[in-house]
Amino acid sequence: MLACSLNALGIDFRRPVPEFHSWLLSKTGAIRCFQAVEIPGDFCEAFGVAVEQTGEFLILVFLGIVGACVGSFLNVVAYRLPRECMSIVRPRSRCTQCSAWISWRDNLPLLSWLLLRGRCRNCRTRISLRYPLVELTTAAWFAGAAWFLGGAQLLRGIPEQGALWLHFAVMTLIFCVLLVLALIDWDYRILPDQLTIGGMIVGPLLAFAAPEVQHGKMLLHVAGNGVWAVRTDAALNGLLGMALGAGVLWLVGWIGSRIWKRDAMGLGDVKMIGAMGAVLGLWVFLALVVASISGALVGVIRMAVRKDHQIPFGPFLALGMLMVMIAGPQILDLWLGLARVE
Ligand SMILES: [Zn+2]
Repeated sequence: MLACSLNALGIDFRRPVPEFHSWLLSKTGAIRCFQAVEIPGDFCEAFGVAVEQTGEFLILVFLGIVGACVGSFLNVVAYRLPRECMSIVRPRSRCTQCSAWISWRDNLPLLSWLLLRGRCRNCRTRISLRYPLVELTTAAWFAGAAWFLGGAQLLRGIPEQGALWLHFAVMTLIFCVLLVLALIDWDYRILPDQLTIGGMIVGPLLAFAAPEVQHGKMLLHVAGNGVWAVRTDAALNGLLGMALGAGVLWLVGWIGSRIWKRDAMGLGDVKMIGAMGAVLGLWVFLALVVASISGALVGVIRMAVRKDHQIPFGPFLALGMLMVMIAGPQILDLWLGLARVE
């Protein structure tokens, strides 16, 4: 019985400690023998807090490690997806310079780059800092998003915390897709249809799975008050956001191309905004504002430094969507506040 993990026994570490104490003493016959030994209350309290904090810390570390491995895979996807003849899963990675196969020990996320001091073991060519940065960012997202959504609460029994896990899974999946889109757009100025059109198809399902991404504020309320009402509304708002987001952007691009006689907005951007709207509903327009402002800022800086005014919009759309997913209402308040001051 003691061999079972505490979690499998269903211990709620956040329960008030006296309750936890008596629960621990009464739960099973095997544990009941402790009743003979009087456990001091403050020891129990300290033990409970320590277990809780250790559990929280360990799950975050574990998620960080998983995130670094996923980030390593995202690097591969961002490299291979635009090269259409390459499969994403096979073969193993090679050095892009000397084509030497990279062994597993030189392919550990973050660690190998540090141990090899950022150079290929075979030809000593520099390996871009971008690879470990992508791994680090993904690791930070995995641990950060879990912490943000409730830390140790995620640990406690999947049945009760299902919605929380689903929210985490949806946010993390979206983060991964956005990161790959941003990297590919930065490198090649394209946004692959697999991800943008795929996002438009899957988006409303993601909104259904985790309606929290729309922050409880939706335009359409048509599903009533049933159990699935919020989820259904979120999916319907996703469809609306997709149609309006892509529609408005397409129109802006079309008008722009008439006025300036050149394509102001790529069709890839329009499809990406459609996919964002499919998840965010009308929040997509706030994401668009964040993307435009941050894109303009970086554009101005780049133009001053490098005399290069061709920057892709995709990375900024990705940034806008992430920020709105995390803190949409706060950004909206800030923006409206600024508007009121003027
Ligand atoms: Zn090499």
